[in-house]
Amino acid sequence: MTISSFSELGLAEPIQRALTAKNYAVPTPIQARAIPALLDGRDMLGIAQTGTGKTAAFALPIIHGLSKKGEKARPRSPRALILAPTRELAIQIGDEFRAYGKFMHLRQTVIFGGVSQKPQVTALYRGVDIVIATPGRLLDLMNQRRLGLESVEFLVLDEADRMLDMGFVRDVRKILAAMPKARQSLLFSATMPREVLRLSGEILTDPVRVEVTPQATPIERIEQNVYHVATAAKGALLASLLDDPALSRVIVFARTKHRANKVAERLERSGVSTEAIHGNKSQAARQRALKAFRDGQVRVLVATDIAARGIDVDAISHVINFELPNESESYVHRIGRTARAGANGVALSFCDPAERSYLRGIENLIKRKLTVIGDGPSVSSFDSDKPKAKKPQGGKPWHKRGRPRSSGAKSDGPPAASRRSRRAA
Ligand code: AMP
Repeated sequence: MTISSFSELGLAEPIQRALTAKNYAVPTPIQARAIPALLDGRDMLGIAQTGTGKTAAFALPIIHGLSKKGEKARPRSPRALILAPTRELAIQIGDEFRAYGKFMHLRQTVIFGGVSQKPQVTALYRGVDIVIATPGRLLDLMNQRRLGLESVEFLVLDEADRMLDMGFVRDVRKILAAMPKARQSLLFSATMPREVLRLSGEILTDPVRVEVTPQATPIERIEQNVYHVATAAKGALLASLLDDPALSRVIVFARTKHRANKVAERLERSGVSTEAIHGNKSQAARQRALKAFRDGQVRVLVATDIAARGIDVDAISHVINFELPNESESYVHRIGRTARAGANGVALSFCDPAERSYLRGIENLIKRKLTVIGDGPSVSSFDSDKPKAKKPQGGKPWHKRGRPRSSGAKSDGPPAASRRSRRAA
């Protein structure tokens, strides 16, 4: 059965009204497949990255299920628990729950570390139906007996792969042990490494498997280019690219906090409004930066992978990989931030000679070659000490002179690079 409208899904009327208010007309593929099974009470293993509409896929049936019973919110004893790896993601999930449930009387609160626990505890004591939490702070509050999980009917583990990457597995297991066995459980993950599969086997009973493959819709809509460039020339290349106003809302990824700060400082110096977010920034500072970016006051957001998880900002025109990620999956997560909700996007990657093996890994994962832009020699001779890129003779920035060519042909890097990447693989 193909589902072409939300009204066919049988969701409660106030939810449908909220979807109309959000201007959602058609369920995304993951929503069309997940929502009927979840309304049926099934457990679910969802393989999907952000940008597919997975949050609504689980939020809508949970809101429906909770509201159907018409129970009053109990103090300190939620009926739905959503676990997310980062504060940013938890906050965004909370925002979505609030939007979809705005014509209902459900109570929810978001719990995460790095801030005072007092308002969170106050909210719990006032009564909650839904708790959205990062594992560390939740466990803290459980240990302090500020909340109990004995009434949990719905459990969601979102971005389970990232949760395990970040070392939350023991916290997650402790949290699971405090919950009733009779509950509906959902696990979402962009990738399915063995540890995630093992965890899903422990949590889920006869789950429906819903898979929206990473290569499928979002990635195919993204133009993906690579610049082969010396490390020292990357700063100038970035500044030069940003001369083009088409790069209207840009996320720049760096591998380390230090590099993220350096890139942001350099851009600020060259007059580009920039914010950086990474693990060393306070929660308040990260929220401020995100808000400024979302509101369009800041053009460029420089982020590390972990800080950027789950960032949900529409109309990102370009994702720039200032440094390639050493895990290929991170590339998919990164570039998935552009081309949201039907828009087209562009991902530009800067690859220095030492990163060639990462590029190879990425191309293997996504089963396609990135398009190589620019001429190798002029890239490496680019002077990184100049604050701004010098325009070449023709008036056109150098990086636009070279005709894009597929890296599948001879431009795939010198033989030495291929040998290196084969060894690294
Ligand atoms: P997610 O994959 O949950 O991070 O969702 C990606 C984005 O798509 C979010 O900004 C959602 O608000 C939006 N979205 C989710 N479902 C729909 C839909 N059916 N129609 C339009 N936008 C949607």
